[in-house]
Amino acid sequence: MKYQLRVAHLYGDLLNTYGDIGNILVLQYYAKQMNVELITKVISLDDDFQAADFDLAFFGGGQDYEQLIVSHNIQHKKTELTKFIEAGGPMLAICGGYQLLGEYYIGAKGEKIAGISALPHYTKSQVNHRFIGDIEIQNQETGQKYHGFENHNGLTYLGKNEKALGKVLSGHGNNGQDGTEGAIYKNVYCSYFHGPILARNGELAKRLLLIALKRRYPDADLNQAENLEISPTY
Ligand code: GLN
Repeated sequence: MKYQLRVAHLYGDLLNTYGDIGNILVLQYYAKQMNVELITKVISLDDDFQAADFDLAFFGGGQDYEQLIVSHNIQHKKTELTKFIEAGGPMLAICGGYQLLGEYYIGAKGEKIAGISALPHYTKSQVNHRFIGDIEIQNQETGQKYHGFENHNGLTYLGKNEKALGKVLSGHGNNGQDGTEGAIYKNVYCSYFHGPILARNGELAKRLLLIALKRRYPDADLNQAENLEISPTY
């Protein structure tokens, strides 16, 4: 393989609802076609995270219980994660991971689960209710449509400097009110889509890999990777 990218799978042993790890497999699938070797490492409770050690990060979703455990631990990684994000490091965060990158999440039992405030959104809870079902959104800049399955209690409200990943065409999205789904901040892509999101939305996988490649190999000719055809799978 011509290139190599180092991927941090944040708390992959705790936050992996509905096969979120499939996102790593999809990244590997497209990376291979781009002549890129992916070296993946789970960064969990006992591991240190250093921004300089990684080119890409993935953060999955989970139950409130696991989220609370991660919420305490991730405060120790806050500085380096923020550094990674502010420097333009590409990251994909799903559901619980998305919530934990923000300011806080009020769990289903009313408990306040602190995030790391790397992104300015916050998440409230619904009383005895979850948003569950198929969802379709459209990114307002590229026109790309993304398809997925959402299952969350949280109601997320975007903050300053955050854009939605897409406008809700069908389903609930961030909060069921403002028509937004997910978030984009610098090169961080957040979404409530499980399923996993990249399996049905290969264009997003390609985008993340290209951002990572351009940062790691600024002078390389990445034509082959840029021209990779992604066939729609939904
Ligand atoms: N526990 C969070 C919620 O219910 C996240 C769920 C998830 O990751 N699927 O909103």
